[in-house]
Amino acid sequence: MVQSTGYAAHLAGTDLAPITFERRPPGPHDIVLDITHCGICHSDLHAMDDDLGKTTFPVVPGHEIVGMVTAIGDAVTRFRVGDKAAIGCYIDSCRVCDPCLTDRQQMCTSMIPSFNGVEKDGEHRTWGGFSTNYVANEDYALKIPDALDSAHAAPILCAGITVWSPLQKWGVGPDKKVGIVGLGGLGHMAVKLAVALGAEVTVFTTSESKVADARRLGAHSAIISSDEAAMTAAFGTLDFILDTVSAQHDINGYIAALKPEGTLCLLGIGPGGLEIANMSVVFGQKCIAGSLIGGLDQTQAVIDFCAANNVLPEIELVPAGQINGALDRLRRNDVKYRFVVDMRADG
Ligand code: NAP
Ligand code: ZN
Ligand code: ZN
Repeated sequence: MVQSTGYAAHLAGTDLAPITFERRPPGPHDIVLDITHCGICHSDLHAMDDDLGKTTFPVVPGHEIVGMVTAIGDAVTRFRVGDKAAIGCYIDSCRVCDPCLTDRQQMCTSMIPSFNGVEKDGEHRTWGGFSTNYVANEDYALKIPDALDSAHAAPILCAGITVWSPLQKWGVGPDKKVGIVGLGGLGHMAVKLAVALGAEVTVFTTSESKVADARRLGAHSAIISSDEAAMTAAFGTLDFILDTVSAQHDINGYIAALKPEGTLCLLGIGPGGLEIANMSVVFGQKCIAGSLIGGLDQTQAVIDFCAANNVLPEIELVPAGQINGALDRLRRNDVKYRFVVDMRADG
């Protein structure tokens, strides 16, 4: 067994509190990681609040995990002690189904999430990255290039891959006009990556204070979604829209902003549903799609792309002892644009 300490929600809707727990014993194909940094994603809040009704308490959230390898099993070939390594949203899957064989492990029915899941041994639970260490099979760990510091690497493990995957799937590039809805952790990475891919980007935000930032991040225009005239002017202008909003909201203005045959791709997994004016989808033959994180190779690809092109998340580094303050601020939409927890600092 590997002894670990971390921060857990013991009941839905409560703050995180210290916890001690055991991770599974490392096997020959495993690496043991001392966690240095972990990003805070809105999905951590959804899990703490049990928004999806799937949380087993106590839960240690955190799935944007970066650390140093402190031990390796006899059969490990990809990592050495002292390497940086990362764990994203899942730590294993069946490895033989069609999604697993085509780098879409996130859709494997046996995918094991990096927190709030159960290990392959059926006995040990998976505990997330707001903790001291992690035991993981090397095949599901990611490499962090030297050019990327650990704190800035962390948000790529979920926010980065989650927006990269649909940008790739829908061919976002120089000839595309793209909308990004919601300028938060996912949204700001979507802006940076879509701009780096050469697209013309429009941000839709509810926050006046983010308009200037949207342009600074590279967007060509920014629209406050309550500005009816600006929303009307955007009708029929965009090829593809990525909606990163974490709560219930009206998506019909965004459907209207699509060109004929354009696609609105939803990423948010907040509680409740969304109402779709079916006429606005039918006339114009538009598509409403969804996307879930991404495959292992694709995650490594976006990490490498960010390192090679200096596409870095804008982070606010917080010591582990102040994690609840950061979670509260994320809940109030008060972060620009991703909290990363320094797991070595008590604060
Ligand atoms: P975040 O940092 O909190 O950003 C969400 C943004 O949505 C906010 O910055 C805000 O942008 C906007 N927003 C918030 N409340 C709103 C409301 N009531 N009405 C309209 N806009 C609102 O969250 P995140 O970490 O980027 O995650 C975003 C969502 O994606 C969450 O639901 C998360 O669970 C989900 N997620 C999905 C996947 C996946 O694989 N599909 C992966 C990771 C996360 P403005 O201030 O600009 O309006
Ligand atoms: Zn996430
Ligand atoms: Zn599988």
